[in-house]
Amino acid sequence: MADQKKPLAPRDQGAPDYTRYLHPSMVRNYGKWKDHRDIRPGVFVHVSEDGDSLYTVRAGSPRMMSAPLLRKVCDIADRHCQGYLRFTSRNNIEFQVEQEEQIQPLIDDIEQTLGFPVGGTGRSVHNIIHTQGWLHCNLPGTDAAGVVKALMDRLYEEFTHENFPQRVKLSTSCCTINCGGQTDIAVNLQHHHPPRIDHDMINRCELPKVVGICPVLAVRPDRVNGHDTVEVVEEKCMYCGACHAQCPALEIRDGDTDTLSIWVGGKSANTRSGPSFMKLATWGLPNNPPRWPEVGEAVSAILNAYKGGAREFERVGEWIERIGWKNFFEQTGFKFTKYHIDTYRWSRTTLNASSHVRF
Ligand code: SF4
Ligand code: SF4
Repeated sequence: MADQKKPLAPRDQGAPDYTRYLHPSMVRNYGKWKDHRDIRPGVFVHVSEDGDSLYTVRAGSPRMMSAPLLRKVCDIADRHCQGYLRFTSRNNIEFQVEQEEQIQPLIDDIEQTLGFPVGGTGRSVHNIIHTQGWLHCNLPGTDAAGVVKALMDRLYEEFTHENFPQRVKLSTSCCTINCGGQTDIAVNLQHHHPPRIDHDMINRCELPKVVGICPVLAVRPDRVNGHDTVEVVEEKCMYCGACHAQCPALEIRDGDTDTLSIWVGGKSANTRSGPSFMKLATWGLPNNPPRWPEVGEAVSAILNAYKGGAREFERVGEWIERIGWKNFFEQTGFKFTKYHIDTYRWSRTTLNASSHVRF
């Protein structure tokens, strides 16, 4: 019989109790914040009903950091922030102080000790979110983190200044599944042919799941050399790679043909026009490490046109909807092709079925 007095193992899964990690000012003023405002790029203040102020300094991080670098980050939090800091979903590090005069010494320490820029608030280019990539996922066709590094080096000044009509959020995804989500500008990898099947290796996979995961029913049961396997109906396949996630014997990645594409106009916020899906801007850009110059030029073309033509507070998608896609293609210089037309036959709500398309 198990020892009834033996303590249970500490809980090791699920979200931890976040209240233990809140800055003391956040605990004191929990539920009592009445206002917040930007002070300068990368710095904002929350003011509570009791008159307390909490200043947040946002530094852009490269997301993947070594243990020695993280120790330096923690040392800064110890020196200035009573040992507290937090990470945002866009991989910024936010340091918080209670006195305004603590801000500049904190920024100096961040810049000198870490070399990280302070910014990414308000009408700037925010830190780019990227997918898990080779660190955790078995599907990457490119190095999403590398594209982010190359882009943010190019957009450094746009991160530290607020020069746009509205905030600009970017993402990169290393396969067509796009777990980077819906953003103003997204760089996504695209495959250009169906998966190649290794019939000798496929017995390691659960075939009903491989058949079931294809969103367009292109994977069917088959038999080869007397063994159960699958076939792919090539006319149906849209090269999404979902089957490769289920079974590595269906290899879709191809260093010779995979390219990068850029999508625009997505957002998750309910503000003004509501949430929206991204649409294709340009495709066929070479997957060209280590600096992906063609991607950088295409992103800059969109940002320059947006900065010059959008009205105050318009997000990228709202600006494009107002000026029309024809003008978007003219202003960015991207070529309009047949692949920009959504011909998905079950579509009900997109371009294919809309009477309001303006080309
Ligand atoms: S975008 Fe694709 S390859 Fe990259 S982490 Fe997400 S599922 Fe994996
Ligand atoms: S790549 Fe996508 S569409 Fe093609 S067979 Fe695999 S799951 Fe189906």
